[in-house]
Amino acid sequence: MKLAVAGVGAMGTRFALKLKQAGNDVTVVDGWDERVASLKKDGLQANLDGKEVAVKVPAYGQKEVPHDLHFDAVFFFTKSMQLEQMVKDMLPVFDDDTLAVCLMNGIGHEQTLEKYLPKERVFLGNTMWTAQMTRPDHVLLEDDGSCELANVQPGEPQHSQAQELVKVLADAGLKAHLLDDPQYSVFRKGCVNGTLNTLCTLLECNVEEYGRTTYAHEMVVNIVKEFAAVGATEGITLDVDEAVNHVEACYTVIGAHYPSMYQDLVKNNRRTEIDYINGYVSRHGKEHGLKTPLCDLLTAEVHTKEELQGAK
Ligand code: NAD
Repeated sequence: MKLAVAGVGAMGTRFALKLKQAGNDVTVVDGWDERVASLKKDGLQANLDGKEVAVKVPAYGQKEVPHDLHFDAVFFFTKSMQLEQMVKDMLPVFDDDTLAVCLMNGIGHEQTLEKYLPKERVFLGNTMWTAQMTRPDHVLLEDDGSCELANVQPGEPQHSQAQELVKVLADAGLKAHLLDDPQYSVFRKGCVNGTLNTLCTLLECNVEEYGRTTYAHEMVVNIVKEFAAVGATEGITLDVDEAVNHVEACYTVIGAHYPSMYQDLVKNNRRTEIDYINGYVSRHGKEHGLKTPLCDLLTAEVHTKEELQGAK
């Protein structure tokens, strides 16, 4: 397949690298000048499961993508707040049959994509892989993971296209699964991010450390209940017990890993995706007259930490 990965930080690098190694024609696009310079010079460089790899691929800055390129699918892997600008900058290379795939963290990204592209061509999901930028020219890819996606709009040909995308990802070793309901899956993943990413960032601990603390379960249950209440206003019936189990399984599955929000704010002093996680629940709760005191407070606390640190 002819693929573009738009946003090749940590996770975009994992997907671009694996898809290229599996024989796909992969082009990468990024908005960070330092990153683009290294991609053009040395390609995708990473430590992949303990082995140093470097793979050359065509690379472009997001403002200089030639308009005559054609892709079967574009995978978006920016941070949530960078998505809309990346979609706008990639629009000239979208033909009538180019598919847009978003497996990023955060709730509501399909609404951003659908502002610019027909709903039939939007594919949504999430990933449980991890990835970490060690330098602007290097990414650390360790641990096991998986990803899942589906077409946002039911029907054909998009359902068959989702199956094909899953096959391409699975053939690349990215352990992909087809979803029944992508919005449900995004909310369920949102529960992981809205508990573990946010709390590990505020408490400055890793997932395993957090899981061992006395109030861990109580906090997770009450945050997940707020996600479920807001999800219900959007027609999503989240199974709270199952979502809590899914979060708590991360204590051993993800273990001593520091979530990406921790890496952003604590390690790299970058702004976080909080407005698309707990912030989404807080905003949408208010719109529906629901009380979401934990998500309100967590969102305010993360923004306060960003402000105190002068995060960029
Ligand atoms: P990332 O921050 O590594 O990269 C996103 C963009 O930010 C890229 O364009 C990158 O070049 C740029 N960038 C990275 N560091 C920068 C810096 N210091 N200064 C300026 N620009 C910089 O983000 P990611 O971890 O690849 O995440 C992409 C999406 O995948 C997000 O929605 C994230 O939540 C999600 N995700 C990440 C992980 C993970 O373990 N990294 C796991 C699951 C989901």
